[in-house]
Amino acid sequence: NGIYRSLHCLGERHKIPKDPNLDTATFVLSQFPSLHHAELRIALIDSATNQRVTYAQLHRSVLSLASGLQHALKIQKNDVVFVLSPNSLLYPTICLAVLSIGAILTTANPLNTESEIAKQVSDSDPKLAISGPDELHKLIPTGVPTILTSRPTDGGEDVLLSVEELIESCEPAELERKNRPCQSDTAAILYSSGTTGTSKGVVLTHANFISVITLLKWSMDVTSAQNDVFLCFIPLFHIYGLAFFGLGLFCVGTTTVLMKKFELKVMLDAVKEYRVNNIPAVPPVILGMVKYAGKFAGVDLSSLRRVGSGAAPLSKELVEEFRQRFPWVELRPGYGLTESCGAATIFASNKDAKTRSGSSGRLIPGFCAKIVDVETRKSLPPYKEGELWIKSPTVMKEYLGKTEATAETIVSDGWLRTGDLCYFDEDGFLYVVDRLKELIKHNGYQVAPAELEAILLAHPRILDTAVIPVEDEEAGQIPMAYVVRAVGSQLTEAQVIEYVANQVAPYKKVRKVGFTNAIPRSTAGKILRKDLILLSKQQIASR
Ligand code: AMP
Repeated sequence: NGIYRSLHCLGERHKIPKDPNLDTATFVLSQFPSLHHAELRIALIDSATNQRVTYAQLHRSVLSLASGLQHALKIQKNDVVFVLSPNSLLYPTICLAVLSIGAILTTANPLNTESEIAKQVSDSDPKLAISGPDELHKLIPTGVPTILTSRPTDGGEDVLLSVEELIESCEPAELERKNRPCQSDTAAILYSSGTTGTSKGVVLTHANFISVITLLKWSMDVTSAQNDVFLCFIPLFHIYGLAFFGLGLFCVGTTTVLMKKFELKVMLDAVKEYRVNNIPAVPPVILGMVKYAGKFAGVDLSSLRRVGSGAAPLSKELVEEFRQRFPWVELRPGYGLTESCGAATIFASNKDAKTRSGSSGRLIPGFCAKIVDVETRKSLPPYKEGELWIKSPTVMKEYLGKTEATAETIVSDGWLRTGDLCYFDEDGFLYVVDRLKELIKHNGYQVAPAELEAILLAHPRILDTAVIPVEDEEAGQIPMAYVVRAVGSQLTEAQVIEYVANQVAPYKKVRKVGFTNAIPRSTAGKILRKDLILLSKQQIASR
C-alpha cells in the first residue's frame, strides 16, 4: 500500500515505556548502571583536561542542580531554560536537571551572533539562561537572568552564580512527583528551519525523547557497547548530540570522551589516548579522516570499531574510500532530522552497511515511511524518487507558535514531510538523493537561505536576492548569493560577503556571490531555486 515499515521488531526488553507519567530524566536516571557500578563507571571524560565524571557523580549533580534550579532560582515546570554553551562536562547535567523539573530546554549554537540569539530568546521566552563564560556577552543584552556554567578563573564577577556553585551548594534532593513532567509535556524546543523559511522552534515532548532513547538502545548491542568508549565532538545543542550523548548513551552505560569542538588532530590524539571504539560523526569528519589522517605522525586508530555518519549526505565514493583506508572500522551512516527527534534510519548490521554504500540504512522500529510524488502526493514504489514522509513516536509536536508552518509540515494523519528527495530499494534501504527544501547544510550545521536573504535585502544597494547551496568537497555545501544590484551600484562580491559575515555566525557566511539582472521566480513569486542551482553549476563548470 505504499507504506514502508521497519522490518525490525522491538523485543520485550526494548519496548517503548507506556507509563504516561514517565519523564525523560527519570527514565534516563533509572537506566544508569546500578549503584556499585555507578561509583566506578566513568560516564564522561573531558578530552582537554582529562577530568572524569562517574555515573554516580553525574546522578548526584543532576539532583543537586535540579534542586538548585527549583529552590534557589525558582524555576518551575514549563519555564524555558536557554542553554548557550559549547560541549562541556556540565552540559548533560544541565539538560537532565532542567528536564527533571519539568522545565523546557532550548539550546543554541554557541557560535550564533548576539542578534541571532536575541531572536531565539524572543521566540522561546526563557525564564533563565545558562551560558558558557565565552558566550555570556551575547546573552546579557537580552535581559534574561543568566547564570554561568562555570566561573572562569579570571572573571565572571558580574554574574551572581554558576552551575558549578549551585551543584556544590545544593543537596541532591529526590525529585518531587508533583513537579515532574509527564510524557505529553514539552521537553525541549530546538531550532530548525524545516522545509522553508527561517528558524522555527521544534517542540519535542518527553515522549519523543523517551522513544528515541529506547530506539537508540535497541540499535546497540548493549552488552558489548557498555564497555565502549565513545568520542563526542558533535555539538550537544543539536538533536544528534543531545539525543545521543546528552541523554541516550547514559542508558547504555558507555564512557564518552567529550571534545569542546571538532579538530582533526585533537580527535586523532583522543582516539589513541582513550582507546576510543565508537565515533558518531558527520561527513566532513569522515572526509577529514580519509584525506588527512595519514599526514600526522603517531596516529593510532587501531581501537576504533565503528564510525557513524549523519546530518548530511555521505557519498558512496567517500564511503568506499573510507572502507579501503580503514578496513577494520565499520562505517554506519544514518539519517534523521530535528523534527523527528534524531535518527529515523540506521544500519543495524555492518553486513548490510558494507553491501549498500550510498544508503542511510533502514527504518528504525516504530517508524513508517512513504515516498511521495512531489506533484501528486501519491505514494511511490521502490526505486522511485519522491519526498520522504515519516511517521513515528519521535515526530515533533509542532513548531512553536507557528500553526501554518506546522500544518504544512505535519500533514494528513501525522505524516512528517521531511523535504528530502529519497527512494527506498526493494529491501527497504533508504537513499537520500537531494534536498527539496531550501535548507543548506554547512559542515552539518543548518543555514536557512531565507535568513540570509532577509539580511541581504536590507542592504541599500541590493534590489533582490536568492541564496542557494553550492556543493563543496570539504563542508558539503556553501551558501551562495545571487544578487540584483541597485541601478548604478558597483557593489562587489567581497563587499557582499563582508556585509553578511558581519551579521551572522561564521558557519552561515555567504561564501560566493553571483550578480544577475533578475531572480527567477514562479508566478506566485516563489524563488525558483533549482534554476539558480543549475545556473551556478553551469557558471562554475565554464570557468
Ligand atoms: P537537522 O534537523 O539539522 O538534523 O537536519 C536534517 C536534515 O539534514 C535532513 O532533512 C537532511 O536534509 C539532512 N540529512 C540528515 N541526514 C542525512 C543523510 N544521511 N543523508 C543526507 N542528508 C541528511
